[in-house]
Amino acid sequence: MQWRSSPYDCVVIGAGPAGCTAAALVAERGHATLLLERERMPRFHVGESLMPDTFWTLQRLGILDQLHAAGFVQKVGVQFVSPSGTESQPFYFAEHDPRMCSRTWHVERAAFDQLLFDNAARKGATCVDQTKVVDVRVQPASPHELMLKTADGPQVSIRARVVVDATGQQALLANRLGLRVMNPDLKKVAIWGHYRNARRTAPDTEEITTILHTAGKLAWFWYIPLSGNKVSIGLVGDAAYLLKQDKQPEAVFAAHAEACPALRDRLTDAELVAPLQVVREFSYTTRQHAGDGWVLVGDAFGFIDPVYSTGVLLALRSGELAADAIHAGLIRDDVSAEQLGSWTASYAQGVERFRSLVTAFYTNEFSFADFLRRHPDYRGGLIDLLIGRAFVDSAATLVTDLQHAVQAAQAARVA
Ligand SMILES: Cc1cc2nc3c(=O)[nH]c(=O)nc-3n(C[C@H](O)[C@H](O)[C@H](O)COP(=O)(O)OP(=O)(O)OC[C@H]3O[C@@H](n4cnc5c(N)ncnc54)[C@H](O)[C@@H]3O)c2cc1C
Repeated sequence: MQWRSSPYDCVVIGAGPAGCTAAALVAERGHATLLLERERMPRFHVGESLMPDTFWTLQRLGILDQLHAAGFVQKVGVQFVSPSGTESQPFYFAEHDPRMCSRTWHVERAAFDQLLFDNAARKGATCVDQTKVVDVRVQPASPHELMLKTADGPQVSIRARVVVDATGQQALLANRLGLRVMNPDLKKVAIWGHYRNARRTAPDTEEITTILHTAGKLAWFWYIPLSGNKVSIGLVGDAAYLLKQDKQPEAVFAAHAEACPALRDRLTDAELVAPLQVVREFSYTTRQHAGDGWVLVGDAFGFIDPVYSTGVLLALRSGELAADAIHAGLIRDDVSAEQLGSWTASYAQGVERFRSLVTAFYTNEFSFADFLRRHPDYRGGLIDLLIGRAFVDSAATLVTDLQHAVQAAQAARVA
C-alpha cells in the first residue's frame, strides 16, 4: 500500500454503513479520500432490519439494483406482541404509502456492508481493510495526524484535512475527546444469534420484523427473518437484570424464551446456527459533533436502543449529510467546526424524535394501542415514523402528543 505523503482531503475511520456512505459521496466529487477498516472485510455485524427511509441514501449511492439482486428478504412491516402473546395488527408500510420507497430489506450485514465498501471504492475512495487507526492527534488546526497499524505490522503516520469518525460504538475520536454522554436509563445488553427452521410466515420473500415482549415486560425479543431459512433472534434487557445471575447466555436466553409464549411457538423446530453472542448496547449521545477538521457520524455520533431498527438509517443519513458538508467545506477551503457540523442540529432533532419513541416503548404504563384509540388519526403518522421519517416537520406534532401521553402515564405510576 502506497500512502500519500501529502495530506488526504478526507480520511474516514470505520467501514460500516456510515463510513462507507461518507467515503463514497466525498470521493465521487474528486477529493482524495481514504476509508480505513480494522477488520478483514466482509465482517460480521449485528443490525439486520433496515428502515424503508434508507431508500433515499441507497438510491443516491446507486446501489438499489444490487440490493434487489442480492436476494435479501424484503421487509414490508413491523409487528408488536404483548407479554401475554397478543399479536398486534402489523403496521404494513404500504398501508400508508404504497410507493417502492416504503419497503426495504432484512440484510445479512456482512454482505450488505461489503456492498457499501465496494461501492465506495468504485466511487474513487481508497478502501483499506485490516488497518486500525490507533491514534488521532487532533491539532489546533487541520490537517490532523493519524497513526495506523497495518495488516503486515508497521506503524504508519498519515495526515488528513478532514477526519470522519465512523468507528461505531468504539467512538474513537468521541472517546479521546471526552464527548460521550451515556444515558443511565438505557444500559442494555443483547443476547442474539441466527436460527434455522424457526417458524415464519412466507419464507424468503416478504416479511415483517416482530418485537415480542417477555412476561412482565422485563425484556423483549427481536425476530428478523433472513434469507436461507434463517431468522435472527435477539433478547434485549437491562444489563443489570439479564446478566445479574452470572448464568450462561444460552440459559438466560432459554429462560426468557419460555416466558414468551409467542416466541416459544415460533422456535418449536428451530436450531441455533452458531453460538449466541452477547453485545452491549448502552445508549449515548455526544456533546459536540464536529470540530475544526473533524466530524462524527453513525454510532460514533450517538446510539439509540435498537427496538425500532433505527441504527443503519441514521448511519446512512449522517454519512450523507456529513459528506455534503465536507465537500462544500473542501471546495471553499473551510473545514471549520461550523462548516463540518452545519447539518448536525436538525439531524439531532430527528434523532430525538426516535428517542421519544424508545422512551414510550420502555414506559410500561404507556400503551401505543390506547394512544391510537385516543388519536386514531395518528396511525399513518406512526407508520411514517416506523418507515424512518423522523426528519420531517409533520413528525413534530405526533411526537409532542406522544411525549405528553408518556409523561401522563409516568405521573400516574408515581401517584
Ligand atoms: C443489539 C443491537 C441490535 C441492532 N439491531 C439493529 C437493526 O435491526 N437495524 C438497524 O438498523 N440497526 C440495528 N442496530 C444498530 C446498528 O448495528 C448500528 O447502528 C450500525 O451498524 C451503525 O453503523 P456505523 O457505520 O455507525 O458503525 P458500525 O457498523 O459499527 O461500523 C463501524 C466500523 O468501524 C470499525 N472500526 C472501529 N474502530 C476502528 C479503528 N480504530 N480503526 C479502523 N476501523 C475501526 C469497526 O470494525 C466497524 O466495522 C443494532 C445494534 C445493536 C447493538
